[in-house]
Amino acid sequence: MRIAIANQKGGVGKTTTAINLATALAATGASVLLIDSDPQGNASTGLGVSRSDRHSSIYDVLIGDATLAEATVQTAIPGLSLIPSTAALSGAEVELVGLDHRIHRLTNAMEHADISDWVLIDCPPSLGLLTLNALVAVDQLLIPLQSEFFALEGLSQLLSTVERVRSGPNPKLSILGVLLTMSDRRNRLSEAVAADVRAVMGAQVFKTSIPRNVRLSEAPSHGLPALVYDIRCPGSQAYLALAREVVERTTAQVKSSERSPS
Ligand code: ATP
Ligand code: MG
Repeated sequence: MRIAIANQKGGVGKTTTAINLATALAATGASVLLIDSDPQGNASTGLGVSRSDRHSSIYDVLIGDATLAEATVQTAIPGLSLIPSTAALSGAEVELVGLDHRIHRLTNAMEHADISDWVLIDCPPSLGLLTLNALVAVDQLLIPLQSEFFALEGLSQLLSTVERVRSGPNPKLSILGVLLTMSDRRNRLSEAVAADVRAVMGAQVFKTSIPRNVRLSEAPSHGLPALVYDIRCPGSQAYLALAREVVERTTAQVKSSERSPS
């Protein structure tokens, strides 16, 4: 199953979700590949892959200089591998414009690859060519929304991008779910925003929401997923619950598509 984690709004919990969901899925015994498609490289740093260990990146794959396998490094987490981000990725948005099949580069690279059970793509905070390549290459989109005022701002733009991808290059793209992040039960605004999002997005919102939890923000500075840094903290427990929900949703979707082949 291939999942892009995207929202063009910055700082909503995309990378935290990518790292911890990937770790939780790997803990089930599945093989997981996390693609760090953000020039900021936060997913790579958060998984403890230092700059000196990043030889090639998703940039080299998109440009056609490396295969997925060549760009993949193992992480310290059993079952979890990573395609890191390198400094070169910051030029990719501009360079891709001049290439053929510019929104299909990732899809094409994945076509002949020996793909893991799960592929998660951590997207940058923009709707540029890196995010588009991800949306064209995956089956599912997970949208993190920060439980704050303006949470829904920009969502319509993201959803219309999804519609355009669906009506063109990737008809099978579906929305796996909307994830409320940094929620705070004691904060009335946070609760009101969550109620709003559930009213607008309905059953697409995951039952699990991720609480605001300082352990989640400390873990990356140790180069560890929160799930390894402190598995008992509320944030880690929420990501384990999210992983169960993701497995349930994707299994249900596979079953329903087997019943009604389109
Ligand atoms: P960007 O758009 O810059 O890539 P992002 O959407 O990937 O950002 P993160 O990097 O995951 O967002 O999170 C933004 C900041 O908030 C980080 O410092 C992260 O550690 C912190 N953070 C994320 N989720 C939580 C949470 N549930 N509780 C506390 N802090 C969090
Ligand atoms: Mg990020």
